[in-house]
Amino acid sequence: MNEINPTPTVEDYLGVIYTLDRDGESIIGAKLSELLEVSPPTVTVTLKRMIRDQWITMDARKEIHLTPKGIEAAVSIIRKHMLTEWMLSRILEVPWSQVHEEAHKIEHSISVDVADKMQERLDDPECCPHGNPLPGHEEITQNWKPLIEMEEGDRFIIRRIHEFAEEDGNLMNFLQKNKVQPDQIGIIKEKMPFNETITLQMENSTVPLGFKIAKLLFVEK
Ligand SMILES: [Zn+2]
Ligand SMILES: [Zn+2]
Repeated sequence: MNEINPTPTVEDYLGVIYTLDRDGESIIGAKLSELLEVSPPTVTVTLKRMIRDQWITMDARKEIHLTPKGIEAAVSIIRKHMLTEWMLSRILEVPWSQVHEEAHKIEHSISVDVADKMQERLDDPECCPHGNPLPGHEEITQNWKPLIEMEEGDRFIIRRIHEFAEEDGNLMNFLQKNKVQPDQIGIIKEKMPFNETITLQMENSTVPLGFKIAKLLFVEK
């Protein structure tokens, strides 16, 4: 069979590879294994198949690159994912912390025609409900800084929870409970580099975060 459409597994890989590439990170199998929570041997087998089907190439340093066909498929699945998140949150009122996981189950079976209709109905969003840019709208994130770069006393507006943080359901519940969500205002109450923690004062709560999480949240001063 001549493979025209990527399988759901391949789509998951393409999405993660595209996101890492967008962030300017080098992409190797070990990183995918960690992010996709799949064993290294399984990743190796899937990558081989993806090279065979011309979604990606691998250079001499074992770094992975998307082919033009790979980019197109990645953009398509990311767009479907983000539009589905909006549909779930705006129309079905699924809680913000759960829309990523739910969208992940649906996105693979949406046609381009339906995605186009969703885009129109949702007024052409530039980012997902977590503030991550739809492919082609990356410039909206330009002035948003990682929370980790803020200092004590800085006031900020939350703009974005990075895609890789969306994957952690417990974290997303915690963020929603404390209203650490796009458009919410806060202030840095305390920053303790020796302890690698940063404490936010949000509207109704004090929120301690580790530096690892603070690198995945983006704010505007
Ligand atoms: Zn998502
Ligand atoms: Zn999202």
